[in-house]
This record gives sequence, structure tokens and C-alpha cells, in this order.
Amino acid sequence: METKILYGRDLAKEIVEKIKTKVKNLKDKGLRVPGLAVILVGNDPASKIYVNKKHQTCKEIGFNSFSYNLPEDTNFLRLKELIEELNEREDVDGILLQLPLPEKLREKSYELIYSISPLKDVDGFHPYNVGLLTIGDDRGIKPCTPKGIMYLLNHYDIKVEGKDVTVVGASNIVGKPISIMLINKMATVSVCHIKTRCVPEFTAKADIVISATGVPHLIKKDMIKEGAVVIDVGISRLNGKIVGDVDFESMLGHVSAITPVPGGVGPLTVAMLMENTLECYVRRENIYSI
Ligand code: NAD
Repeated sequence: METKILYGRDLAKEIVEKIKTKVKNLKDKGLRVPGLAVILVGNDPASKIYVNKKHQTCKEIGFNSFSYNLPEDTNFLRLKELIEELNEREDVDGILLQLPLPEKLREKSYELIYSISPLKDVDGFHPYNVGLLTIGDDRGIKPCTPKGIMYLLNHYDIKVEGKDVTVVGASNIVGKPISIMLINKMATVSVCHIKTRCVPEFTAKADIVISATGVPHLIKKDMIKEGAVVIDVGISRLNGKIVGDVDFESMLGHVSAITPVPGGVGPLTVAMLMENTLECYVRRENIYSI
């Protein structure tokens, strides 16, 4: 069987180009451009790379990008104050609190996310937006990685309605929201997590498997039905190389389609963040055509 490689990188470039044109149109009309504030606390190297990528993409598009790099020992109240200040700022349309927070603040992560205005919640993590997503109301802001996965499936014409989909990983960032989005599109969804007794039992029967665990090469060929579609969200380092949750090489010739790591879902996450920032701007400014 020929395996189609589902690249996200080129799709992400197209999305970024489209937003760039819209920002140019705004500038040409003498209007304000969208602004994204990104808060990074501490020195986590992976977070620094992600935050830099976000700033770079903002710059490329023409968004205003406001960067807050705070020391590891920043306290809860200081962060909350900063978020409240950003909530009030006219020139800030989106607020992103880079996760994970340093150990001392981690248990307060959700309290801080709750303090971000739902109208500026570009990550779609605020309970208001999570609620809208769960109800299936499109007026909310959707989380970037699951939104990117849905975009990718749609772009490659992979239908989900009526399909058996197994999601491995049940985090609030990826596993749970993608499961809800798939249910909203009438897929039959099984969700596995660390306590699932027999993950292969669920993956082997699925037409589509989406894995988001961060366990390198957890998903092997013998766990996947021939001709299935495999979406790999995981990003880990193995022997100095970036790898996903899926044993990619072994899947070639066995599955009908698969995303690579890197170059699959990852670039779409950043593109969706840009889309969400523009969406927040459009709603705040009541602009209906750019
Ligand atoms: P997380 O640690 O919050 O959640 C991991 C989930 O996987 C949990 O539900 C856990 O129960 C489950 N899990 C762990 N080991 C398992 C196992 N052996 N069997 C079954 N389930 C298992 O992680 P997250 O934030 O959801 O991220 C998951 C992965 O996706 C990470 O590698 C992360 O770097 C990556 N990620 C990528 C993008 C992207 O843009 N591509 C975005 C977000 C996260």
C-alpha cells in the first residue's frame, strides 16, 4: 500500500501567507494591526524555542508581538497582575501564557488561565471557550493543536464522520479537545491514557489513530490496522533526534496516511495561534471583512 505523507509545514506556510495579506490590507486602510502578548516564566529550553517561533511568526505576519520573559521565581500575584493589565490593553488582542509553568507555580496554572479574558484567550484554554467547544458552538476560540489537526484532516479530505477514531493521550491541551472536536463531527471516539489497560485493543480497531503522549515510538505497526490514518502529535528527543509517538518508518507501506515528526502537526499549531489572534482581533474590532 502506498502511504501518503501528510505534511503540515506547507499548509502552515499558506495560512501564514493569507494572514500576512490580511494584515497588509489592515495597514493599507490605516487600521491598527493585531497584537499578541506572550508570557514566558523561567528558562525551560523547549518553551524558549516555542516562544521564539511564535514571535518570529508574528513578526513575519506583521502582528505586534509583546514579549514578557519573567524570572523563574516570579510569584503568582505578579503574573496575575500582568495578565489583568494585558486584559485591559487596547493594543493586545491575544494573551498566551506559555506552559508548563515552573514547578512552584504549576498547580496555579489553571487559576492564571482563568484570569485571561476569554476574548483574548488565543490558546482556547479558558473554561468559557472549553465550554463552547464542548457544546459544539463555533463562537469560541479553539485550542491550536487540535484545531490544526482538524485543519489537516479536512485539507487532505480525510473524512471523520462515522469513523472509529482512537485518541491516545487525554490532556486538556490535545487529547481531550481533539476528542470533543471529533465527536462534534460525528466520529466514534475512544480515548486512551496512561491507565488504559490495553491501548492496542483500541488502536487496532481504529480507522484513524491520533497519538499525543510524548512517549517516543509508543505506537508500533502491530497496533495499527492496515490502511488506517495515523496522526502523530508527540514531540520528543531520542538519541539527539526529534521523534514522535509513532514508529514512523515501520508504518510506511502499512497505513494509508501518516504525519511526519517534525513537519506534520507542529507547524500547524503556530499557524492556528496566528489565526486565533486574528480571530480575537476581528471580534474585538467588529471587522467583518479584511
Ligand atoms: P501531557 O503530558 O499533558 O499528556 C500526555 C497524555 O498521554 C496523558 O493523558 C497521559 O495519560 C497519556 N499517556 C502517557 N503515556 C501513555 C502511555 N504509555 N499510554 C497511553 N497514554 C499515555 O502531554 P500533552 O501536552 O498532551 O502533549 C503530548 C505530546 O504532544 C508531547 O510530546 C508534546 O510535546 C506534544 N505536543 C505537540 C504539539 C504540536 O504542536 N505538535 C502541541 C502540544 C503538545
